[in-house]
Amino acid sequence: MKFLFLGTGTSQGVPMIAQPEGEETCDLSNRKNWRTRCAVHLELGGEHIQVDAGPEFRLQCIENAVDSIDHFILTHAHADHVMGMDDLRRFCDLKGGEALPVYSTTEGLDRVRAIFPYAIAHKPASIGYPAFNLRRMPDRLEVSGGWIDATRLPHGSIEVLGLVFTEKQSGKRLAYYTDCKRLTEQAYRLAEGVDVLVIDGLRHSPHQTHMNIEEAVAAAQHIKATQTYITHMTYFVDYKKTSSELPDGIALAYDGLSINLSE
Ligand SMILES: [Zn+2]
Ligand SMILES: [Zn+2]
Repeated sequence: MKFLFLGTGTSQGVPMIAQPEGEETCDLSNRKNWRTRCAVHLELGGEHIQVDAGPEFRLQCIENAVDSIDHFILTHAHADHVMGMDDLRRFCDLKGGEALPVYSTTEGLDRVRAIFPYAIAHKPASIGYPAFNLRRMPDRLEVSGGWIDATRLPHGSIEVLGLVFTEKQSGKRLAYYTDCKRLTEQAYRLAEGVDVLVIDGLRHSPHQTHMNIEEAVAAAQHIKATQTYITHMTYFVDYKKTSSELPDGIALAYDGLSINLSE
């Protein structure tokens, strides 16, 4: 299993527009503090799975040479996760004009229908158009290289898909829990002892709908993943300073970080 952090920033990205300067903010001379909106790309037994597509999705694909998508999963339809979906059009072209399977919650799919009505089709309307084959995310989605277990994570007034990927051949497991205020019993159970956990850790101070770094570390210690990466960070999180304070086995993710779990 290979996975790639396309983006690790919060909804405004880092730096945000007209970002204030100060001691509390991250050092922008370190590229690891430049964060585009959250998204990951996985390769599972040769199949390509894209999770979320925010405003920088096209640039992320070019930067990281993403040239194939077989399945698209939308964790939830907040703007920072959904607004790049129009650029999935290129992946429909690359599949010879096929619709792309798009999985989400019922609420997520409703929002996709409202934002991209022209893309809800069995085939692209013409070359260069996107086409989405909307499917409600099942509890377990079987793909050729393994399976993806899905659970619901509380995130303010909505629920977000928490995803646990298992590769059949290597037995490696990865949990992707972005945009959540806490984990449910089921989420803990599904992720227990995974090889890699990716978890929401917005900033140091508490927030109503996201875990802060302290909450993310506590959840990670409960799950006991071999390695944990914190994602969806604001400009208050400085890579170097925060990294030096984290326990062993827990690190901050950064844009472009790629991991090969089959090795
Ligand atoms: Zn978000
Ligand atoms: Zn969100």
